[in-house]
Amino acid sequence: MKQEELKKIEKEIKGMIASLKVEIEHLEESTAPIAPENSIGRLSRLDAINNKSVVEASLRNRKRKLNKLQLSLSKVYNTGFGICASCKKTINPKRLILMPQSDKCVKCA
Ligand SMILES: [Zn+2]
Repeated sequence: MKQEELKKIEKEIKGMIASLKVEIEHLEESTAPIAPENSIGRLSRLDAINNKSVVEASLRNRKRKLNKLQLSLSKVYNTGFGICASCKKTINPKRLILMPQSDKCVKCA
């Protein structure tokens, strides 16, 4: 893969990492401990618990994605980056940018 393509991919991954980190920060702020029942009422406490688990699930997803992106970023300049793990053909750069964690081309994935 060409150096300029790799640079473009690297930049793209870095941008995605930066915005994920911001999202994670915001989500973490909204998973603050839930107030005890007597201060907000039983139903709104249940709501709060439900919201909290939704937020926590998306927090986990984003953290997983962040890990993958950081891993791809560390591999961008390795030989073999952008090469399909099964058929050894070059993976479409657009695919690498959209799904930097993929190590297979569209056909093999
Ligand atoms: Zn392939």
